[in-house]
Amino acid sequence: MKKSILITGAAGFLGSHLCDRFYGEGYRVLAMDNLITGDLKNIEHLFGKEGFEFYNHDVSKFVHVPGKLDYVLHFASPASPIDYLKIPIQTLKVGSLGTHNLLGLAKDKGARMLIASTSEVYGDPHVHPQTEDYFGNVNPVGPRGVYDEAKRFQEAITMAYHTYHGLQTRIVRIFNTYGPRMRLNDGRVLPAFIGQALRGEDLTIFGDGSQTRSFCYVDDLVEGIHRLLMSDYAQPVNIGNPDEITIKEFAEEIIKLTGTTQKVIYQDLPKDDPKQRQPDITVAKKILDWTPKVSRQEGLKITYDYFKTLTKEDLYKKEHNSFEKYIKK
Ligand code: UDP
Repeated sequence: MKKSILITGAAGFLGSHLCDRFYGEGYRVLAMDNLITGDLKNIEHLFGKEGFEFYNHDVSKFVHVPGKLDYVLHFASPASPIDYLKIPIQTLKVGSLGTHNLLGLAKDKGARMLIASTSEVYGDPHVHPQTEDYFGNVNPVGPRGVYDEAKRFQEAITMAYHTYHGLQTRIVRIFNTYGPRMRLNDGRVLPAFIGQALRGEDLTIFGDGSQTRSFCYVDDLVEGIHRLLMSDYAQPVNIGNPDEITIKEFAEEIIKLTGTTQKVIYQDLPKDDPKQRQPDITVAKKILDWTPKVSRQEGLKITYDYFKTLTKEDLYKKEHNSFEKYIKK
């Protein structure tokens, strides 16, 4: 009998790639999303296929799905600093109430649950590179607090279900990831730079561009998540590419890749923007035998080719999701 997997945030960037991976392996995939930031375009190729079901549902409300369930992957959440500013309460609710509902569902169904945590649990880190045993430096009342604290709570309640109820749980701490299907206008640096290059605008560097990030290609991340889900390791695991780069160098790479003749312009650094970020992946190497395989050069090319296929309308649209209706005027 087919294994069944519930994937929340299924119409989002990471969720949709996970749907492809597990559907491709013969799973019955139950895809759930409330489409606030997700886009059905990301999974429309799976609609109508046997063994693929879509549920338009907000997981911060009671979750029910029919039949047996072997795995739950909780990937529903806004995931960019601009989103947290626009929809802070939904961000908090999906990480806290949503996680609680899904843990309850997993317990009821006897399923194994993996949650998408984040390098944001380390905040603006004082330990570099970040190891899983670092507790972090998070400002709970800053603009990123709604995401960071929801994810920290998510880890805590997941661990409590593991220790108290004996639920099988997995926690992946995801570092900056990129690839096709990222939302063009979510404010993240890669779609921002590529969108600007494609529209013939200058590239906006926040601050002096000396802050660092380490970018992982989505296929590598999906492989790491798959290995973690199949492992018996309940402690948090960093998954990311340790190849660290400054944002200024990153802008130069995008300029070279796209051939844009525009320049970079400097804007204010957002509050609490982490100065440096690089995953220590010793645990993933040891426990999962996982390392990233796709170089930035290779991954950026695939991602740029994807963004080039977007229509002019997509390119100039402010948002191609429906969260405007959730924002109080
Ligand atoms: N950033 C930038 N220009 C932009 C968008 C982002 O310089 O147009 C910077 C941002 O300040 C941060 C880095 O790029 O230092 C990565 O930002 P992103 O929002 O992608 O992710 P996060 O800060 O959550 O790692």
